[in-house]
Amino acid sequence: MPWFTIKTRTGDCSAFSISHSPFIYSDKLKRMPAIAPGSKVLVTGANGFLATHVVKAFLDRQYSVRGTVRSQEKGDHLHKLFSSHGNKFETVVVKDITQEGAFDEVIKDVDAVAHTASPFHFEADDPNELFIPAINGTKGILQSARKSTTIKRIVILSSTAAISNAPNPGKVYTEEDWNDVAIKAVEEHGKAASGDEKYSASKMRAEKAAWDWYNTNKASVEWDLTTINPPFIFGPTLHEVDKLENLNTSSQLWYEQVVKNTSNSPDLGKSVGSYVDVRDVALANVLAVEKEAAGGERILVPAAPFTWQDMINASRKVGPSIGLNNLPQGYTGYDASEVTYETVFSGEKLKGILGFKPIPLEDTVRDSLLDFKARGWL
Ligand code: NAP
Repeated sequence: MPWFTIKTRTGDCSAFSISHSPFIYSDKLKRMPAIAPGSKVLVTGANGFLATHVVKAFLDRQYSVRGTVRSQEKGDHLHKLFSSHGNKFETVVVKDITQEGAFDEVIKDVDAVAHTASPFHFEADDPNELFIPAINGTKGILQSARKSTTIKRIVILSSTAAISNAPNPGKVYTEEDWNDVAIKAVEEHGKAASGDEKYSASKMRAEKAAWDWYNTNKASVEWDLTTINPPFIFGPTLHEVDKLENLNTSSQLWYEQVVKNTSNSPDLGKSVGSYVDVRDVALANVLAVEKEAAGGERILVPAAPFTWQDMINASRKVGPSIGLNNLPQGYTGYDASEVTYETVFSGEKLKGILGFKPIPLEDTVRDSLLDFKARGWL
Protein backbone atom coordinates (compact mmCIF):
# COMPACT_ATOMS: atom_id res chain seq x y z
CA MET A 1 0.00 0.00 0.00
CA PRO A 2 1.47 3.43 -0.88
CA TRP A 3 2.50 5.90 1.82
CA PHE A 4 2.51 9.66 1.40
CA THR A 5 3.75 12.77 3.11
CA ILE A 6 1.34 15.67 2.99
CA LYS A 7 0.69 18.83 4.96
CA THR A 8 -2.46 18.68 7.03
CA ARG A 9 -4.35 21.20 9.08
CA THR A 10 -2.60 19.79 12.13
CA GLY A 11 0.92 19.54 10.74
CA ASP A 12 2.88 17.01 8.73
CA CYS A 13 1.31 13.61 8.46
CA SER A 14 4.33 11.75 7.28
CA ALA A 15 2.94 8.28 6.73
CA PHE A 16 -0.58 7.08 6.25
CA SER A 17 -2.51 4.91 3.91
CA ILE A 18 -4.37 6.62 1.12
CA SER A 19 -7.48 4.81 2.28
CA HIS A 20 -7.14 6.41 5.72
CA SER A 21 -7.18 10.14 5.03
CA PRO A 22 -6.56 12.03 8.29
CA PHE A 23 -9.28 14.51 7.37
CA ILE A 24 -11.99 12.04 8.19
CA TYR A 25 -10.81 11.63 11.77
CA SER A 26 -10.65 14.00 14.71
CA ASP A 27 -7.65 16.32 14.76
CA LYS A 28 -6.00 14.19 17.45
CA LEU A 29 -5.01 11.68 14.79
CA LYS A 30 -1.83 11.08 12.96
CA ARG A 31 -2.02 7.44 11.98
CA MET A 32 1.26 5.70 11.53
CA PRO A 33 1.85 2.48 9.65
CA ALA A 34 1.37 -0.59 11.74
CA ILE A 35 4.42 -2.41 13.04
CA ALA A 36 4.92 -6.07 12.32
CA PRO A 37 6.32 -9.22 13.93
CA GLY A 38 10.11 -9.06 14.12
CA SER A 39 10.00 -5.51 15.52
CA LYS A 40 11.14 -4.63 19.04
CA VAL A 41 8.65 -3.60 21.73
CA LEU A 42 9.23 -2.05 25.13
CA VAL A 43 6.84 -3.35 27.80
CA THR A 44 6.91 -1.39 31.07
CA GLY A 45 6.18 -3.07 34.40
CA ALA A 46 6.89 -6.40 32.67
CA ASN A 47 6.56 -8.47 35.85
CA GLY A 48 2.91 -7.51 36.51
CA PHE A 49 -0.12 -9.80 36.14
CA LEU A 50 -1.18 -8.32 32.83
CA ALA A 51 2.26 -7.36 31.52
CA THR A 52 3.65 -10.91 31.80
CA HIS A 53 0.88 -11.96 29.40
CA VAL A 54 1.62 -8.96 27.18
CA VAL A 55 5.28 -9.99 26.96
CA LYS A 56 4.24 -13.57 26.14
CA ALA A 57 1.81 -12.43 23.44
CA PHE A 58 4.48 -10.33 21.70
CA LEU A 59 7.11 -13.08 21.97
CA ASP A 60 4.67 -15.69 20.67
CA ARG A 61 4.19 -13.51 17.59
CA GLN A 62 7.95 -13.29 16.98
CA TYR A 63 8.55 -9.79 18.34
CA SER A 64 11.60 -8.96 20.41
CA VAL A 65 10.67 -7.63 23.82
CA ARG A 66 12.50 -5.41 26.28
CA GLY A 67 10.70 -5.41 29.61
CA THR A 68 11.25 -2.87 32.37
CA VAL A 69 11.27 -3.99 36.01
CA ARG A 70 12.02 -2.10 39.21
CA SER A 71 14.88 -4.39 40.25
CA GLN A 72 16.93 -7.10 38.58
CA GLU A 73 15.43 -9.77 40.88
CA LYS A 74 11.95 -8.92 39.59
CA GLY A 75 13.15 -10.01 36.15
CA ASP A 76 14.47 -13.43 37.24
CA HIS A 77 11.13 -15.25 36.98
CA LEU A 78 10.49 -13.69 33.57
CA HIS A 79 13.83 -14.91 32.23
CA LYS A 80 12.97 -18.45 33.33
CA LEU A 81 9.46 -18.21 31.91
CA PHE A 82 10.63 -16.94 28.52
CA SER A 83 13.95 -18.80 28.28
CA SER A 84 12.87 -20.55 25.07
CA HIS A 85 12.85 -17.16 23.33
CA GLY A 86 16.59 -16.72 23.87
CA ASN A 87 17.90 -13.22 23.25
CA LYS A 88 14.55 -12.05 21.90
CA PHE A 89 13.66 -11.23 25.50
CA GLU A 90 15.60 -8.94 27.81
CA THR A 91 14.85 -7.00 30.97
CA VAL A 92 16.16 -3.61 32.00
CA VAL A 93 15.86 -1.95 35.39
CA VAL A 94 13.99 1.33 35.66
CA LYS A 95 14.04 1.94 39.39
CA ASP A 96 11.76 4.93 39.53
CA ILE A 97 9.42 5.69 36.64
CA THR A 98 8.52 9.06 38.16
CA GLN A 99 12.02 10.47 37.63
CA GLU A 100 12.51 12.76 34.66
CA GLY A 101 14.25 10.92 31.83
CA ALA A 102 13.65 7.51 33.48
CA PHE A 103 12.94 5.87 30.12
CA ASP A 104 15.41 7.86 27.99
CA GLU A 105 17.92 5.03 27.59
CA VAL A 106 15.61 2.01 27.52
CA ILE A 107 13.33 3.45 24.86
CA LYS A 108 16.12 3.86 22.34
CA ASP A 109 15.84 1.60 19.27
CA VAL A 110 12.35 0.18 20.01
CA ASP A 111 9.56 0.25 17.41
CA ALA A 112 6.61 0.39 19.80
CA VAL A 113 5.85 0.75 23.49
CA ALA A 114 3.23 -0.93 25.68
CA HIS A 115 3.12 1.08 28.89
CA THR A 116 1.42 -0.92 31.64
CA ALA A 117 3.38 0.05 34.77
CA SER A 118 1.04 1.76 37.18
CA PRO A 119 -0.16 0.96 40.69
CA PHE A 120 -3.43 -0.96 40.85
CA HIS A 121 -4.81 -1.28 44.36
CA PHE A 122 -7.48 0.27 46.54
CA GLU A 123 -5.34 0.78 49.66
CA ALA A 124 -3.80 4.19 48.98
CA ASP A 125 -4.11 6.71 51.79
CA ASP A 126 -2.87 9.81 50.00
CA PRO A 127 -4.17 9.88 46.39
CA ASN A 128 -0.70 11.03 45.30
CA GLU A 129 0.60 7.52 46.05
CA LEU A 130 -1.31 6.53 42.90
CA PHE A 131 -1.39 9.82 40.98
CA ILE A 132 2.36 10.46 40.88
CA PRO A 133 3.47 7.13 39.37
CA ALA A 134 0.38 6.88 37.14
CA ILE A 135 0.62 10.39 35.72
CA ASN A 136 4.37 11.01 35.78
CA GLY A 137 5.09 7.51 34.50
CA THR A 138 2.75 8.06 31.57
CA LYS A 139 4.00 11.53 30.73
CA GLY A 140 7.57 10.33 31.25
CA ILE A 141 7.33 7.58 28.65
CA LEU A 142 5.90 10.03 26.10
CA GLN A 143 8.58 12.60 26.91
CA SER A 144 11.35 10.02 26.58
CA ALA A 145 9.89 8.96 23.21
CA ARG A 146 9.80 12.55 21.97
CA LYS A 147 12.96 12.36 19.89
CA SER A 148 12.63 8.75 18.76
CA THR A 149 12.82 8.10 15.04
CA THR A 150 12.13 4.37 15.42
CA ILE A 151 8.93 4.34 17.49
CA LYS A 152 5.73 4.19 15.47
CA ARG A 153 3.15 3.65 18.17
CA ILE A 154 2.77 3.96 21.94
CA VAL A 155 0.01 1.99 23.63
CA ILE A 156 -0.96 3.14 27.11
CA LEU A 157 -2.81 0.70 29.34
CA SER A 158 -5.69 2.72 30.73
CA SER A 159 -8.91 1.30 32.16
CA THR A 160 -12.68 1.50 32.12
CA ALA A 161 -12.04 3.33 35.40
CA ALA A 162 -11.07 6.28 33.19
CA ILE A 163 -14.39 5.95 31.35
CA SER A 164 -16.83 5.26 34.18
CA ASN A 165 -17.44 2.93 37.05
CA ALA A 166 -20.87 4.36 37.87
CA PRO A 167 -23.76 1.92 37.49
CA ASN A 168 -26.13 3.30 34.88
CA PRO A 169 -28.85 0.81 33.87
CA GLY A 170 -29.59 0.92 30.15
CA LYS A 171 -26.51 2.95 29.25
CA VAL A 172 -23.69 1.49 27.18
CA TYR A 173 -20.54 3.43 27.98
CA THR A 174 -18.33 4.20 24.99
CA GLU A 175 -14.91 5.72 24.35
CA GLU A 176 -16.61 9.14 24.34
CA ASP A 177 -17.17 8.91 28.12
CA TRP A 178 -14.80 10.10 30.83
CA ASN A 179 -14.97 9.36 34.54
CA ASP A 180 -15.27 12.86 35.99
CA VAL A 181 -17.06 11.50 39.06
CA ALA A 182 -13.98 9.92 40.62
CA ILE A 183 -11.87 13.04 40.04
CA LYS A 184 -14.53 15.19 41.71
CA ALA A 185 -14.75 12.80 44.67
CA VAL A 186 -11.00 12.98 45.21
CA GLU A 187 -10.96 16.75 44.79
CA GLU A 188 -13.71 17.09 47.38
CA HIS A 189 -12.69 14.42 49.86
CA GLY A 190 -8.94 13.98 49.35
CA LYS A 191 -7.65 11.15 51.52
CA ALA A 192 -11.20 10.40 52.68
CA ALA A 193 -12.30 9.43 49.14
CA SER A 194 -12.75 5.69 48.64
CA GLY A 195 -9.90 3.49 47.42
CA ASP A 196 -11.80 2.86 44.21
CA GLU A 197 -12.28 6.59 43.62
CA LYS A 198 -8.58 7.28 44.17
CA TYR A 199 -7.54 4.48 41.79
CA SER A 200 -10.11 5.49 39.15
CA ALA A 201 -9.03 9.12 39.35
CA SER A 202 -5.40 8.05 38.87
CA LYS A 203 -6.30 6.17 35.67
CA MET A 204 -8.46 9.02 34.38
CA ARG A 205 -5.83 11.65 35.07
CA ALA A 206 -3.03 9.54 33.59
CA GLU A 207 -4.97 8.88 30.39
CA LYS A 208 -6.07 12.51 30.06
CA ALA A 209 -2.44 13.55 30.55
CA ALA A 210 -1.40 11.19 27.75
CA TRP A 211 -3.90 12.61 25.24
CA ASP A 212 -3.13 16.20 26.29
CA TRP A 213 0.59 15.57 25.86
CA TYR A 214 0.06 13.93 22.50
CA ASN A 215 -2.30 16.59 21.18
CA THR A 216 0.16 19.32 22.19
CA ASN A 217 3.23 17.59 20.78
CA LYS A 218 2.02 15.46 17.89
CA ALA A 219 3.38 17.76 15.19
CA SER A 220 6.91 17.16 16.48
CA VAL A 221 6.82 13.39 17.06
CA GLU A 222 7.00 10.54 14.58
CA TRP A 223 4.63 8.18 16.38
CA ASP A 224 0.99 8.04 17.38
CA LEU A 225 -0.89 6.99 20.48
CA THR A 226 -3.50 4.38 21.42
CA THR A 227 -5.08 3.67 24.78
CA ILE A 228 -6.54 0.31 25.76
CA ASN A 229 -9.37 0.51 28.30
CA PRO A 230 -10.11 -2.87 29.93
CA PRO A 231 -12.65 -3.51 32.68
CA PHE A 232 -11.73 -5.97 35.49
CA ILE A 233 -9.07 -8.33 34.16
CA PHE A 234 -9.35 -11.97 35.25
CA GLY A 235 -7.77 -15.21 34.09
CA PRO A 236 -4.75 -17.41 34.75
CA THR A 237 -1.61 -15.85 36.21
CA LEU A 238 1.87 -16.24 34.75
CA HIS A 239 3.72 -13.74 36.89
CA GLU A 240 5.67 -14.50 40.03
CA VAL A 241 3.49 -14.67 43.13
CA ASP A 242 5.31 -15.89 46.24
CA LYS A 243 2.16 -16.22 48.33
CA LEU A 244 -1.58 -15.79 47.99
CA GLU A 245 -1.58 -12.51 49.94
CA ASN A 246 0.65 -10.99 47.25
CA LEU A 247 -1.60 -11.88 44.37
CA ASN A 248 -2.46 -8.88 42.18
CA THR A 249 -5.62 -6.95 43.06
CA SER A 250 -8.08 -8.25 40.45
CA SER A 251 -7.03 -11.92 40.75
CA GLN A 252 -7.22 -11.63 44.54
CA LEU A 253 -10.74 -10.27 44.29
CA TRP A 254 -11.79 -13.10 41.95
CA TYR A 255 -10.20 -15.71 44.22
CA GLU A 256 -11.99 -14.35 47.29
CA GLN A 257 -15.37 -14.10 45.57
CA VAL A 258 -15.33 -17.32 43.59
CA VAL A 259 -12.99 -19.77 45.31
CA LYS A 260 -13.14 -18.80 48.98
CA ASN A 261 -16.66 -17.39 49.19
CA THR A 262 -18.71 -18.81 52.06
CA SER A 263 -21.60 -16.39 51.56
CA ASN A 264 -25.00 -17.29 50.15
CA SER A 265 -26.20 -13.71 50.06
CA PRO A 266 -28.50 -12.50 47.23
CA ASP A 267 -25.95 -9.69 46.82
CA LEU A 268 -23.82 -12.15 44.86
CA GLY A 269 -26.44 -11.81 42.14
CA LYS A 270 -26.00 -8.04 41.80
CA SER A 271 -24.29 -6.43 38.86
CA VAL A 272 -20.59 -5.82 39.63
CA GLY A 273 -19.17 -4.35 36.43
CA SER A 274 -17.58 -5.91 33.36
CA TYR A 275 -14.61 -8.21 32.92
CA VAL A 276 -12.19 -9.43 30.26
CA ASP A 277 -9.70 -12.30 30.10
CA VAL A 278 -6.09 -11.28 30.69
CA ARG A 279 -5.03 -13.08 27.48
CA ASP A 280 -7.44 -10.93 25.49
CA VAL A 281 -5.98 -7.74 26.93
CA ALA A 282 -2.52 -9.01 26.00
CA LEU A 283 -3.71 -9.74 22.48
CA ALA A 284 -5.32 -6.29 22.34
CA ASN A 285 -1.91 -4.75 23.08
CA VAL A 286 -0.33 -6.65 20.21
CA LEU A 287 -3.12 -5.82 17.78
CA ALA A 288 -3.08 -2.20 18.90
CA VAL A 289 0.46 -1.85 17.56
CA GLU A 290 -0.22 -3.92 14.45
CA LYS A 291 -3.45 -2.33 13.27
CA GLU A 292 -2.99 0.98 11.57
CA ALA A 293 -6.57 1.98 12.39
CA ALA A 294 -5.85 1.74 16.13
CA GLY A 295 -3.72 4.91 15.97
CA GLY A 296 -5.29 7.83 17.82
CA GLU A 297 -7.99 5.67 19.39
CA ARG A 298 -9.18 4.87 22.88
CA ILE A 299 -10.29 1.25 22.68
CA LEU A 300 -12.55 -0.45 25.20
CA VAL A 301 -11.92 -4.20 25.48
CA PRO A 302 -14.80 -5.71 27.47
CA ALA A 303 -15.81 -9.38 27.35
CA ALA A 304 -19.12 -9.01 29.21
CA PRO A 305 -20.81 -7.56 32.28
CA PHE A 306 -21.04 -9.98 35.21
CA THR A 307 -22.25 -10.76 38.71
CA TRP A 308 -20.13 -12.78 41.13
CA GLN A 309 -22.81 -15.46 40.97
CA ASP A 310 -22.20 -15.72 37.19
CA MET A 311 -18.55 -16.49 38.00
CA ILE A 312 -19.49 -18.92 40.77
CA ASN A 313 -21.98 -20.76 38.52
CA ALA A 314 -19.42 -21.03 35.72
CA SER A 315 -16.84 -22.38 38.15
CA ARG A 316 -19.26 -25.02 39.46
CA LYS A 317 -20.05 -26.00 35.89
CA VAL A 318 -16.43 -26.51 34.81
CA GLY A 319 -15.08 -27.62 38.21
CA PRO A 320 -15.90 -31.36 37.99
CA SER A 321 -14.10 -31.69 34.62
CA ILE A 322 -10.87 -30.59 36.34
CA GLY A 323 -11.37 -32.50 39.58
CA LEU A 324 -12.89 -29.66 41.61
CA ASN A 325 -16.19 -30.87 42.99
CA ASN A 326 -16.62 -28.74 46.09
CA LEU A 327 -16.47 -25.18 44.88
CA PRO A 328 -18.69 -22.64 46.68
CA GLN A 329 -22.26 -22.46 45.44
CA GLY A 330 -23.09 -18.92 46.51
CA TYR A 331 -26.70 -17.78 46.23
CA THR A 332 -28.86 -20.70 45.16
CA GLY A 333 -31.93 -18.55 44.40
CA TYR A 334 -30.09 -16.77 41.57
CA ASP A 335 -31.85 -16.21 38.26
CA ALA A 336 -29.53 -14.63 35.69
CA SER A 337 -32.45 -13.64 33.48
CA GLU A 338 -33.61 -11.23 36.18
CA VAL A 339 -30.33 -9.33 36.47
CA THR A 340 -29.98 -5.78 35.20
CA TYR A 341 -26.34 -5.38 34.28
CA GLU A 342 -25.54 -1.81 35.19
CA THR A 343 -22.01 -1.07 34.06
CA VAL A 344 -21.87 -2.06 30.41
CA PHE A 345 -19.18 -1.05 27.93
CA SER A 346 -19.23 -1.00 24.16
CA GLY A 347 -17.16 -3.64 22.39
CA GLU A 348 -17.57 -2.01 18.96
CA LYS A 349 -13.95 -0.92 18.58
CA LEU A 350 -12.66 -4.21 19.95
CA LYS A 351 -14.53 -5.95 17.15
CA GLY A 352 -14.20 -3.29 14.46
CA ILE A 353 -10.60 -2.15 14.93
CA LEU A 354 -8.83 -4.98 16.73
CA GLY A 355 -11.06 -7.60 15.16
CA PHE A 356 -11.27 -10.42 17.66
CA LYS A 357 -13.87 -12.18 19.77
CA PRO A 358 -13.28 -12.32 23.54
CA ILE A 359 -12.51 -15.64 25.22
CA PRO A 360 -15.73 -17.25 26.60
CA LEU A 361 -16.41 -16.98 30.33
CA GLU A 362 -16.09 -20.71 30.99
CA ASP A 363 -12.57 -20.78 29.51
CA THR A 364 -11.49 -17.85 31.69
CA VAL A 365 -12.95 -19.55 34.74
CA ARG A 366 -11.53 -23.03 33.98
CA ASP A 367 -8.03 -21.73 33.31
CA SER A 368 -8.08 -19.55 36.44
CA LEU A 369 -9.09 -22.53 38.57
CA LEU A 370 -6.43 -24.72 36.98
CA ASP A 371 -3.82 -22.06 37.69
CA PHE A 372 -4.85 -21.72 41.34
CA LYS A 373 -4.92 -25.50 41.67
CA ALA A 374 -1.42 -25.79 40.19
CA ARG A 375 -0.19 -23.18 42.67
CA GLY A 376 -1.66 -25.19 45.55
CA TRP A 377 -4.31 -22.65 46.45
CA LEU A 378 -7.24 -24.96 45.80
P1 NAP B 1 -0.04 -5.59 38.84
O1 NAP B 1 0.07 -7.06 38.69
O2 NAP B 1 -0.05 -5.03 40.21
O3 NAP B 1 1.11 -4.92 37.99
C1 NAP B 1 1.42 -3.57 38.11
C2 NAP B 1 2.75 -3.30 37.46
O4 NAP B 1 3.03 -1.91 37.60
C3 NAP B 1 3.91 -4.05 38.17
O5 NAP B 1 4.92 -4.33 37.24
C4 NAP B 1 4.39 -3.02 39.18
O6 NAP B 1 5.75 -3.15 39.52
C5 NAP B 1 4.21 -1.74 38.38
N1 NAP B 1 4.08 -0.62 39.31
C6 NAP B 1 3.15 -0.46 40.27
N2 NAP B 1 3.39 0.67 40.95
C7 NAP B 1 4.51 1.19 40.42
C8 NAP B 1 5.28 2.35 40.71
N3 NAP B 1 4.95 3.20 41.71
N4 NAP B 1 6.38 2.59 39.98
C9 NAP B 1 6.73 1.73 38.98
N5 NAP B 1 6.05 0.62 38.66
C10 NAP B 1 4.94 0.37 39.38
O7 NAP B 1 -1.37 -5.04 38.16
P2 NAP B 1 -2.10 -5.40 36.80
O8 NAP B 1 -3.46 -5.83 37.14
O9 NAP B 1 -1.25 -6.24 35.94
O10 NAP B 1 -2.22 -3.95 36.15
C11 NAP B 1 -1.44 -3.55 35.06
C12 NAP B 1 -2.08 -2.34 34.43
O11 NAP B 1 -3.40 -2.66 34.00
C13 NAP B 1 -2.22 -1.12 35.35
O12 NAP B 1 -1.97 0.02 34.59
C14 NAP B 1 -3.68 -1.18 35.77
O13 NAP B 1 -4.17 0.08 36.12
C15 NAP B 1 -4.31 -1.68 34.48
N6 NAP B 1 -5.62 -2.32 34.62
C16 NAP B 1 -5.73 -3.44 35.39
C17 NAP B 1 -6.98 -4.05 35.50
C18 NAP B 1 -7.17 -5.31 36.30
O14 NAP B 1 -8.31 -5.68 36.59
N7 NAP B 1 -6.11 -6.02 36.65
C19 NAP B 1 -8.08 -3.51 34.84
C20 NAP B 1 -7.92 -2.38 34.06
C21 NAP B 1 -6.68 -1.80 33.96
P3 NAP B 1 6.19 -3.85 40.93
O15 NAP B 1 5.89 -5.30 40.77
O16 NAP B 1 7.63 -3.54 41.02
O17 NAP B 1 5.36 -3.21 42.00
